[in-house]
Amino acid sequence: MIKVHNPLFNIRLRRVRSLYTWQLITDRKGCTPHLINGQNTQLGITPDLYGVYSSRQAATQQLRELAQKHKLCLGLLGLEKINTRGCFGLQIRQCMGACVGKEERSQHDARLQQALEDVQIHVWPHDAIHELVQQQNDWVQKQRVHNWQYLGTHCGRSGEIKPLLKNKGFDFYVYKILYCTIKETNN
Ligand SMILES: [Zn+2]
Repeated sequence: MIKVHNPLFNIRLRRVRSLYTWQLITDRKGCTPHLINGQNTQLGITPDLYGVYSSRQAATQQLRELAQKHKLCLGLLGLEKINTRGCFGLQIRQCMGACVGKEERSQHDARLQQALEDVQIHVWPHDAIHELVQQQNDWVQKQRVHNWQYLGTHCGRSGEIKPLLKNKGFDFYVYKILYCTIKETNN
């Protein structure tokens, strides 16, 4: 059981039809983001997942924006082609040259991981289902959570707690709230 000190206000539960996420796959060349269908992937169980998107387009758009902001190589990220003179970004100084060996690949990949840090879907750190409990006088609200998802909310006066909400699947907004709450209660 986790005791919550700060109230979890206005939890919105939305059902997302399609769910995409980036998975960083590391081979001997380096690490590359692969777009995968998040519904088939166990979010919160599979490591190295980043971001949750409702379409391929939205996923690509965010990776492209992050790459541009952090001067990563769009070629090495699989978003553009690389020719003998490197990627297009190199010519306009948007890439620091990992595609032509000017920047170490390991350094590029470390910068990539840093760029994606804010959208990382961490692995759920517990084995069992957790209950987040909020209590104010005799009013109790219990949130059952597992793998960063709400399984249901129960609330009422102590002794007569009733179900309020049911699980609607993975939601990045809910994930962020739970991640911050659990991190805080563990500190
Ligand atoms: Zn490049």
